[in-house]
Amino acid sequence: MATTTEELTEYQNANDPFGTTPHTFDTLALHAGSIADPTTGALLVPIYQTTTYRQEAVGKDKGFTYSRSANPTVSALERRLAALEGVDHCTCYATGLAATTVLCLALLRSGDHVVASEAVYGGTVRLLQQVLAPFGVTAEFVDTSDENALKQALANKTTRFVFIETPANPTLKLTDIRLAAQIAHEAGALLVVDNTLLTPALQRPFELGADVVLHSTTKFIEGHNATIGGALLAREQELHDRFNFIRNAIGAIQSPFPAWLTIQGVKTVGLRMAHHSENALRVARFLEHHPLVTKLSYPGLESFPQFGLACKQQSSGGALIAFEIEGGVAAGIRLMNSVRLCALAENLGSAETLITHPASMTHADVPVAQRRSAGITDGLVRLSVGLEDPVDVIRDLSQALTAAGEATQ
Ligand code: PLP
Repeated sequence: MATTTEELTEYQNANDPFGTTPHTFDTLALHAGSIADPTTGALLVPIYQTTTYRQEAVGKDKGFTYSRSANPTVSALERRLAALEGVDHCTCYATGLAATTVLCLALLRSGDHVVASEAVYGGTVRLLQQVLAPFGVTAEFVDTSDENALKQALANKTTRFVFIETPANPTLKLTDIRLAAQIAHEAGALLVVDNTLLTPALQRPFELGADVVLHSTTKFIEGHNATIGGALLAREQELHDRFNFIRNAIGAIQSPFPAWLTIQGVKTVGLRMAHHSENALRVARFLEHHPLVTKLSYPGLESFPQFGLACKQQSSGGALIAFEIEGGVAAGIRLMNSVRLCALAENLGSAETLITHPASMTHADVPVAQRRSAGITDGLVRLSVGLEDPVDVIRDLSQALTAAGEATQ
């Protein structure tokens, strides 16, 4: 049994199924960073449910001292996610918003400026506007898909980072990551990409110039509606060290059990994302031709206004569809109240199909004018297509649309 740090490192090197051979995404999702337990040989990393770690002598430990700073199960998840995004560094958090909070505390000082996509997750807006503004941070929300708007927002300011979500939650508008990185870097700012909606299985922000990638692992990364969690990935050691410092200082690390569940979930992320996309395309084609649907956004459809950009920077359309139906808000609400198989719920990215009303649920705290300007209308319906047989999802939506339509007449 390995007892010292040196012995443990030697054991890990000898038992690392990878060595230096490069592997493809699905293999990495199953194995990267996983080391058979040195005590028992257990194939799955154990849930190290421990607060503290016995030290051999003062100043002599095995790399872990207290689970607010680091925990072996969480570290195993971090190694896996780093390999999947194609960088060396990852830190995991109790929630996606804890990751965003650490990002902001690590990079911002009073007087600093942040530029963010005008359509982003509502909690990101609330954090920047209602929590950080009183500390002297200014957040400007712009249409980051518009090159000139982005350049203008960055002109003559001390902008620390540009925060983009692409596709944006919930409108699904895309931002060109390569272009945004170039513009941000020219202005001396970092580019942060929230890659929650596509995961590295479908979109590779670091290869397009991003400096930091953020995930709510709550969504597709874990994928089974079983946990809440977040991650920050960085190419540079220095950024990673800052995230690590703040995570420890404010106490935002993920707990071992959700980290373990996330390791199990992420093993199938490549397979799930491909299947989510296939199912969503079928559901989108059905909705596109439905007489009650007045507006529909799905990046995998040829009719999507930014279909060219979608083909360039994502490998398929993803699971999310945004649409509006005839009869406005009332009809949309009737539709959401009439689904049976699809669940009316505040999440996305799970195996189960979820339907959401962003204006009253996920984006309720975004000021009305800001919601309207970002295209988050009161009648917008967000669908996160799951892994059920799409025929059943379509059947359910069909009966719910009929119910919504009948009440309109
Ligand atoms: N980023 C995106 C795109 C999200 O949709 C969410 C949550 O819905 C978050 C971040 C925040 O993550 P969490 O709910 O895990 O705190």
